[in-house]
Amino acid sequence: NTPLHELDPAVAAAVDAELHRQQSTLEMIASENFAPVAVMEAQGSVLTNKYAEGYPGRRYYGGCEHVDVVEQIAIDRVKELFGAEHANVQPHSGAQANAAAMFALLKPGDTIMGLNLAHGGHLTHGMKINFSGKLYDVVAYHVGEDGRVDMAEVERLAKESKPKLIVAGWSAYPRQLDFAEFRRIADEAGAYLMVDMAHFAGLVAAGLHPNPVPHAHVVTTTTHKTLGGPRGGVILSTAELAKKINSAVFPGQQGGPLEHVIAAKAVAFKVAASQDFKERQRRTLEGARILAERLVKDDVRAVGVDVLSGGTDVHLVLVDLRHSELDGQQAEDRLHEVGITVNRNAIPDDPRPPMVTSGLRIGTPALATRGFETEDFAEVADVIAEALKPSYDVQALKARVKALADKHPLYPGVNK
Ligand code: PLP
Repeated sequence: NTPLHELDPAVAAAVDAELHRQQSTLEMIASENFAPVAVMEAQGSVLTNKYAEGYPGRRYYGGCEHVDVVEQIAIDRVKELFGAEHANVQPHSGAQANAAAMFALLKPGDTIMGLNLAHGGHLTHGMKINFSGKLYDVVAYHVGEDGRVDMAEVERLAKESKPKLIVAGWSAYPRQLDFAEFRRIADEAGAYLMVDMAHFAGLVAAGLHPNPVPHAHVVTTTTHKTLGGPRGGVILSTAELAKKINSAVFPGQQGGPLEHVIAAKAVAFKVAASQDFKERQRRTLEGARILAERLVKDDVRAVGVDVLSGGTDVHLVLVDLRHSELDGQQAEDRLHEVGITVNRNAIPDDPRPPMVTSGLRIGTPALATRGFETEDFAEVADVIAEALKPSYDVQALKARVKALADKHPLYPGVNK
């Protein structure tokens, strides 16, 4: 029972340093969040020791009576949260949830449609060297000049290519999708509609974003982005597809489920049903809107900074640096220098290579979890605007970031 700091000081030191980094900087990577201590406690529990191949009540191992309880709680809660007929809480990640959902509904060589990666799609929506691009015949759709998904193109491509599955969902897109329209197009093409709500699931849970569940055959999600839980995945589906989905996850794609992570998912679903969570998602959206409004003002436009689609309906903003002297890499480094973490992101028809890019993706979920209110988001938006100007003052901006971090302590009491 030797504690980590004694048994393995090297790993413990890196964990401590990461805690310090999270506490002392402002996390604005749109796909990240801070899990509650209770979620981390569940994830760090003895459930990590248990093999439980199968599903609650139908396991291939003995001694599953307690993990059965945990997994059933997670299933019941997530079904209730999103109004789904069926839930599988075993996917180890969002990518594995997508792999299993496709494995359930498709055969290798079938045609799928997904949003192009540089236009905001995810790797698992058909990128060439991802499993989805290797196993399936991919027809990508795009955003139009206005930065919004071109639904006329989606309809045309669906009619022409008769896909077996259409994926609606995104990793870097600042607007809402029209799920009813996607379903109409899918029905006309004879395709399944799969919505990947990994990014916006927390907003859906809070009732602040349309729910794809009534429209889609299958909905996949991660549990660690806006949803704010442990790293992991979930698949929701109609009752009709339940058996196919379950057997695609196990034994199709995975072996033993991570019951400690499933316990942490269950806790996160409880949190996500609360009034506090809803209020946090409201602040998340407000923060993104404040940021978008700040980044289209004249002083930043004058240095070539713009916002894709002109604003946001969700928890992130996509900054367009095509006309800035900074490329995506330089802008990411600039913000890192003042203590704000974001990621560079390719934008549609990006003139720069993927390792450099001409965009930034900036999200507000983690700061909302830290307790940021309207005035704090206005302050951080102003710091970002100033940092993207050639005349930026590093020391002054660092001090403003530190003041915000100090005002909203992260994991108070968890410090060593
Ligand atoms: N789907 C979408 C839309 C995502 O943005 C991501 C992660 O970025 C994933 C799936 C994959 O999730 P994971 O990183 O847990 O595999």
